[in-house]
Amino acid sequence: MKIDTHDLKRHPSVMILSLYAVLMFSFSAIAEELVDATAAYDTNNVFARILRGELPAKIVFENEYALAFHDIRPRANVHILIIPKGQFTNMMQFNAHANDMERLGFLDAISQTAKIMGVDESGFRLISNTGRDGGQTVAHLHVHLLGGEHVQ
Ligand code: AMP
Repeated sequence: MKIDTHDLKRHPSVMILSLYAVLMFSFSAIAEELVDATAAYDTNNVFARILRGELPAKIVFENEYALAFHDIRPRANVHILIIPKGQFTNMMQFNAHANDMERLGFLDAISQTAKIMGVDESGFRLISNTGRDGGQTVAHLHVHLLGGEHVQ
């Protein structure tokens, strides 16, 4: 069936549906913007802004080298993000450039967070999406800690 612009004007429901389709397409394009694994660090990413105190976060744990806070869109009963305070886009860049204290501080923050959230004995899952194929959407290294239920 061919729909020209006259059809759209004549049928408001077709127009509303078309508008809805365009909006949904735009939103999904924004939501799915993925981070390049080799990109230089972007100082305006959302987690850099949380670290600078420009955006709020529900903080769970903090040490000199790392910060842990609740994911804004939790996908499990417990869903915490742990990030290093240094400027690293992903695990590859962290491993290549972080110093020993940054490594220890980051690891310690992960295990402290598991204890604080009460999942250290029940178990949890750690995920660090990296680059486009990993589905990374925020350009600052982060580990998802998921638990508090049998994680699917
Ligand atoms: P990823 O897709 O692995 O890069 O994960 C990014 C995560 O950051 C997603 O789970 C988002 O829900 C989460 N997120 C995005 N913005 C915020 C924010 N302002 N505060 C807390 N979590 C956020």
